[in-house]
Amino acid sequence: MRQSHMLIPTLKENPADAEIKSHQLLVRAGYIRQIASGIYSFLPIGRRVLSKVENIVREEMEKIGAHEMSMPALEPSELWKETGRWTTFGSELMRLNDRHNREFALGATHEEVITSLVRHEVKSYKQLPLTVFQIQNKFRDEARPRFGLLRGREFLMKDAYSFNESYESLDETYNKMFEAYSNVFRRCGLNFRAVIADSGAMGGKDTHEFMVLSEVGEDVIAYSDTSRYAANIEMAPVVATYEKSSATPQTLEKVETPGQKTMKDVAEFLGHDLQEGIKSILFQVDEQFVLALTRGDHEVNDVKLKNLYDADMVELASEEDTKRLLGSGFGSLGPIGVPEEVEVVADHAVEALVNVSCGANEEGYHFKNATPERDFEVKSYADLRFIEEGDPSPDGEGIIKFARGIEVGHVFKLGEFYSERMNATFLNDQGKAKTMIMGSYGIGVSRTLAAIVEQYHDERGITWPKNIAPYQVHLLSLNPKKEEQKELADQLYDTLLDAGIEVLYDDRKERAGVKFADSDLFGVPVRITVGKRAGEGVVEVKERATGDQNELETSEVLEYIK
Ligand code: ATP
Ligand code: MG
Ligand code: MG
Ligand code: MG
Repeated sequence: MRQSHMLIPTLKENPADAEIKSHQLLVRAGYIRQIASGIYSFLPIGRRVLSKVENIVREEMEKIGAHEMSMPALEPSELWKETGRWTTFGSELMRLNDRHNREFALGATHEEVITSLVRHEVKSYKQLPLTVFQIQNKFRDEARPRFGLLRGREFLMKDAYSFNESYESLDETYNKMFEAYSNVFRRCGLNFRAVIADSGAMGGKDTHEFMVLSEVGEDVIAYSDTSRYAANIEMAPVVATYEKSSATPQTLEKVETPGQKTMKDVAEFLGHDLQEGIKSILFQVDEQFVLALTRGDHEVNDVKLKNLYDADMVELASEEDTKRLLGSGFGSLGPIGVPEEVEVVADHAVEALVNVSCGANEEGYHFKNATPERDFEVKSYADLRFIEEGDPSPDGEGIIKFARGIEVGHVFKLGEFYSERMNATFLNDQGKAKTMIMGSYGIGVSRTLAAIVEQYHDERGITWPKNIAPYQVHLLSLNPKKEEQKELADQLYDTLLDAGIEVLYDDRKERAGVKFADSDLFGVPVRITVGKRAGEGVVEVKERATGDQNELETSEVLEYIK
């Protein structure tokens, strides 16, 4: 492409509202422009890099037998009412009415739409398993859209949905997805960890988030450097030291008034000594109990958890706060959301506490979502505490470290949540009607792009990995007014294009300094400069990332690039 006629508006200064590198650089280098809060246009080179990520995702999905389709962004409210999410998804769901006053949502996710399609079209076990995906803009009215593409209100997501006849079959699909996700993020050049995640209020058995390690990440993960162990800190294990005496679960009468009693009451009742740094909030959502465990300073959807953390007595959040909290911390690709009515109860506090804060059954360590007594013996609920940095890893290998992470992907075993509510059944090999077993799998495509920039930049601009760069070569003719420079650059441009290389050709009538600065800002991996030695057929080739440079005869250029 010839740069002289392309829309690549570069800026010398960082935009005032851009706090993090990816936001600053993508705007400054002319990749994106904001239209309204959390809503962006992708300019031509921005569209190119987005397509690179998209294509990697597409290839990896197709490799595991998922098929691409497209679902509408306008989703009728009736479907969301079937699952209850019209209410529980809360204010993150963008809603609108048509001229007949019918209600719609702008697609935040598509479990309802795909389930309604599949329940009509798939009838037999012979058609299962089935996995489909789409790559499409999603809409979420985030309470705090920020950090450019990292948290938008309209953003590009790949969402996939699987339908299986059994949980064993779901496990197989899930494992394939897991591998595909690892391949995607590896091909994007990212340093990431797959972490055990929060399966949220309404269950779902397994779920993992893919976290890109980055200081600007909004999540904190615990991981071991010498093993595969990694968990979202929300999910990090609590260490339980059991006593011989047991606290008997009983009805909690002290904590009965919604929104008024304190966590300390719950703790006292449980005989659970709230450790420094762990705070808990208990909610009831439908039949399920949710315990939010927080540590450190957090601000989630405008709810200042810092106050909770600092406070001696932890107030159960107000109803408003509760809703907002639920809407954020507990993921929403799965069957999670903000209920209209949140009742804070503690009747089954003991059960809920252990259900939520304890888990799998390894000596001394328990993870969320395991069932006490079934999965492990409960002796006492006292002395629960979060694992700390420096603790041994729960898998026995290595030492726990904490790091900040950006959630770029999320795989989720949904089970029967949607299929049961929406009556998606199939006939098994005995001719019996069975509920389909589902999974859903998301990748934030535009967020991944920003995460790449967070890991690939220096003080002069972006340093794209080859797989993602908008072009492989940036060709500069330093002074196109000089005939021999223009001629040689034109020639080289044609040669590179003929060889199938993606070239951006800076043929603008700008000063050399401007061209070099822009080139560094864009971050194309190889820069070829046609300058003073054009007459001798010699050009300068420079690697953006390392700064290595060479003078080459034009005849050697192709060989060098390949
Ligand atoms: P977060 O915890 O960051 O709010 P989420 O858990 O709500 O994300 P999911 O429902 O799991 O998001 O959606 C799948 C993927 O979509 C996420 O893993 C993330 O990469 C991406 N994503 C979610 N919300 C946004 C957003 N507001 N802007 C950009 N990407 C997003
Ligand atoms: Mg979210
Ligand atoms: Mg998620
Ligand atoms: Mg999340």
